[in-house]
This record gives sequence, structure tokens and C-alpha cells, in this order.
Amino acid sequence: MNADIFKEIPKTELHVHLEGCLEPEQVIRFSARNNVKLEQETLERLRTEYTFDGLNDFVSVMGRNSATIQTEEDIYEIAFGYLKRAAEDNIVHAEMAFSPQGPAQRGVPYEAAFNGIISAFKDAYRDFGITGGPILACLRHRPVGEALAMLKKYARTYRDDVLAIGLHGAELGYPPGLFEECFAYARTMGWKAVAHAGEEGPADYIWQAIDILQVDRIDHGVQCEVDDRLVERLAETATPLTVCPLSNIHLKVFRELAEHNFLRLLDRGLNVSIHTDDPAYFNGYLSEHYRILHEAGVLDEATLALVQRNAFRSAFMDRERSSQLINASDQMSE
Ligand SMILES: [Zn+2]
Repeated sequence: MNADIFKEIPKTELHVHLEGCLEPEQVIRFSARNNVKLEQETLERLRTEYTFDGLNDFVSVMGRNSATIQTEEDIYEIAFGYLKRAAEDNIVHAEMAFSPQGPAQRGVPYEAAFNGIISAFKDAYRDFGITGGPILACLRHRPVGEALAMLKKYARTYRDDVLAIGLHGAELGYPPGLFEECFAYARTMGWKAVAHAGEEGPADYIWQAIDILQVDRIDHGVQCEVDDRLVERLAETATPLTVCPLSNIHLKVFRELAEHNFLRLLDRGLNVSIHTDDPAYFNGYLSEHYRILHEAGVLDEATLALVQRNAFRSAFMDRERSSQLINASDQMSE
């Protein structure tokens, strides 16, 4: 397989977080202009923190860096910067999870988060033709009432600019079922629904996401494998799993790529696609992820074609366009 193919084929990114796109250069720039003091004040020293012992360690490094995000302009720059680099990587459609509840902890108004990310998507469509939009996530380790109040206050205003409701943040101890009312409310807005489930949490969280939250997609979902009945259900309904193998390695969900289960899940008929989660922290953009998986021997030509088809079918875009993109991707990778 020609190595350029990973960059050249049209791609879609369905599992990426706003804060996960905050590049080290931006951390330094935002810290200076917003007067936020950093423990590591140079790029070189900041980069030394980019190896992680696990999810908690990652969350604390990301939290320190994200504290430099203070204004609508910062949020716009992160999202627009991501979309520009994504377009250069031939990503033609991107869906980005964000939660205004995160910046609000630092006094950033909810409107700044909404307006920053929404303007970035509009400008990126105008400048690069990249489609997609934001996914408004509830932060699962914050009170359910806070997420519900956010939805009731802002969902109507931003109804046409948001693609879906999501659920992310610390997983263990916060089962998806807690957020039933939030997801029911989001459905009345006509939004799609996605939730992180079964990254390090149990298979039961995936059941809750599909049965109680009635999601259209599961983010991660790799822990489904231990529950045969769940695997059958996911296969029957072709529920998309947006899997992020390199994030899983960095955060020690699996020790190495050879142990990762996405090939087994594909073999069992599940609708798995490959995504980056936090590209500023884990190996960059989608083409780079494909290349690394290919070099590790876990992404051959047929698998690439399959995960590409799955990704376009699972994207929140109309069927005609997704068929065209699947054909274009198939033709280029032959
Ligand atoms: Zn994620």
C-alpha cells in the first residue's frame, strides 16, 4: 500500500475533543495573553509532560493546559486551527465534542464556548469546504442538574448549530443512565446523540448508553467484548463504535497495538471506525494514525477500506454524500 494513501484519501473525524486539539504552542501563547501562570513555561518543558501513566495523569496535564483557555477567541483559535490542519489532512467532515461546563469552571461564559466553536466551523466551511459541527457534551463528573440547566438555557438558541448531544469526562463511577433526562431533552431539539461508554468503564455502561440514552453512536465501546449478548446487539443494530486505538495505548487501556481488540470487533461484525480523540496529545491527525496502525501490522488494505466505509456511514451527514465519499475513498485505495 502506497504510504501517501493515508493522507490522500478523503476522511472523516467523528471522535475528537476541543481541549484535545489545544496545541502546545497555543498553551504558551494563551498563557501569556491571558496571564495564566504555567508550571512548565517553555515549549520544550511542556512537551516533557506528554507521556502519561494513565487516564488520571492525562486528565491532570490536560487540565493544567486547558486552564489557559479563557476567551471566545481562544476557543475559536483551537477549533479553527484544528479544522485547518484537518482540511490539510484531507478530512472532509469533522464532528468535535466540547462542553462549555469545562471553561465555565474558570469563569468563561457559556456563550463564549458556543460562539467560539460555532464560528470556527462556519469559517472553516467557508475557507476549506470542511463540513460537520460541534457535539455538545455533558461533563459526566459534574452534577447532572448543571448539564440539564445548560441545555434548558442554551439548546434552543444554538439548536441549528449543534449536531448532537454527547457525554464525556471521567467515566468510572458516572454511569450514562444518570443523564437520561438531558438526552431526552436533547432529542426534543432534533439532535443526534453520542456517549463515551466502555473505554475503561464496564460493558453495562454501553447497555445504558444504548437502552437509556438511546444513542446513535458509542465513543470507544471497546469493553463490549466481554459480553456476547451486547456484541450481538451492537452487530444487529450496526451501532457505530468510534474507536481510538492510539489514545487507548497512551492511556493504558491496552498495553500495545497488537493487543488492541478493534480487529476482533470488526471480525465479529461491529461497525468500528478509527479516530484520534486528542490529536494534540496522541500522535497527531488521522492519516498519521492510519500510518502508525499500518506499520504496526494491524491495518491492511481491506481493513482500511472497511473502517473508512464505517466512518462515512456513521457520520451525521446525508446518505448521498456519504455514498459519494465511500466511492471516492474506495477508488483511491484500490
Ligand atoms: Zn473521547
